[in-house]
Amino acid sequence: MSDCIFCKIMAGEIPCKKVYEDEEFFAFHDINPIARVHFMIIPKRHVASLQECAAGEEGMLGRLLLLAAKLAKELGLSGFKTAINTGKEGGQVVFHLHVHVYGGGKLAHLE
Ligand code: AMP
Ligand code: ZN
Repeated sequence: MSDCIFCKIMAGEIPCKKVYEDEEFFAFHDINPIARVHFMIIPKRHVASLQECAAGEEGMLGRLLLLAAKLAKELGLSGFKTAINTGKEGGQVVFHLHVHVYGGGKLAHLE
């Protein structure tokens, strides 16, 4: 997707603070964190949102959540929140499926 900001981040066209990458997923810190640790995991294959996920993507979605727990632990979180904003009414702004993972306490400016 040429006009997708997250695809551009993965392609290295827009800089990011990368957390993790494998053949299926890419993870990076949110540019506007709402917690001390706040990163997002995205599938490398462009999928616009959870609403566009078809039957047959259970495996990818399951691996995505398992990776969220693994990376949260590696980043020192003993507990964390996840969010998948879906659709405009669901608060989704970037239309490339992503899971927010955040924890470690709110940032001072949000308290
Ligand atoms: P959502 O509302 O779930 O679509 O959230 C999109 C998220 O992407 C927001 O939390 C933004 O702060 C984040 N974001 C937007 N542009 C960038 C960027 N260039 N690098 C890192 N995070 C970004
Ligand atoms: Zn994309």
